[in-house]
Amino acid sequence: MGRYRGSVCRLCRREGMKLYLKGERCYTPKCAFERRPYPPGIHGQATRFRRKQSDYALQLREKQKVKRIYGVMEQQFRNYFKEASRRKGLTGTMLLSILESRLDNVVYRLGFADSRAQARQLVRHGHIEVNGRKVDIPSYRVKPGDIVRVREKSRKSAFFRDRAEIMAERQVPDWLEVDIDNLAGRVLARPQRHHIDLPINEQLIVEYYSR
Ligand code: SF4
Repeated sequence: MGRYRGSVCRLCRREGMKLYLKGERCYTPKCAFERRPYPPGIHGQATRFRRKQSDYALQLREKQKVKRIYGVMEQQFRNYFKEASRRKGLTGTMLLSILESRLDNVVYRLGFADSRAQARQLVRHGHIEVNGRKVDIPSYRVKPGDIVRVREKSRKSAFFRDRAEIMAERQVPDWLEVDIDNLAGRVLARPQRHHIDLPINEQLIVEYYSR
């Protein structure tokens, strides 16, 4: 599957907000958005003062923003949208719930990784198990009752050795429960809209795909 390989900081600058794609660096003065809070490119500074955006542009930007936050490519995002629109309930909320349920997002939310990109790599490299079985598919969808854990042999690695300390400082959303000592977490419920603390207007995404 295709993957964006350019500078992720450009994506934050393009969307006009911090998307926290780089882990620790995002919280330091080195953050590119802190230093250059305008779109990338030679006309970036000038476009800061551009006139009001069209409805289409707003919808497109919202869709791009969410795709970038969760690190999902267009086709997969579109598939998620189709699935969300078939489900009972608000399509935008269902879409966010699907995205939050991805294993890479759960690994990030539990504090095993500093960013979703890093979480994706941990999953791909086989460091994570779900209900006692290795799962190396970042898009794997967790469900209530699932236990997500760092695999026994991975816990001894340099990356995970000090992880408990970092995890202790993280806040885990209500739909997850973390067991720091065992580098594990349990899915308590399906993620609801109020669990997702991101500045997203999902209705704009629904409008984008409903054109
Ligand atoms: Fe975005 Fe993080 Fe880069 Fe800052 S450091 S621009 S928040 S990815």
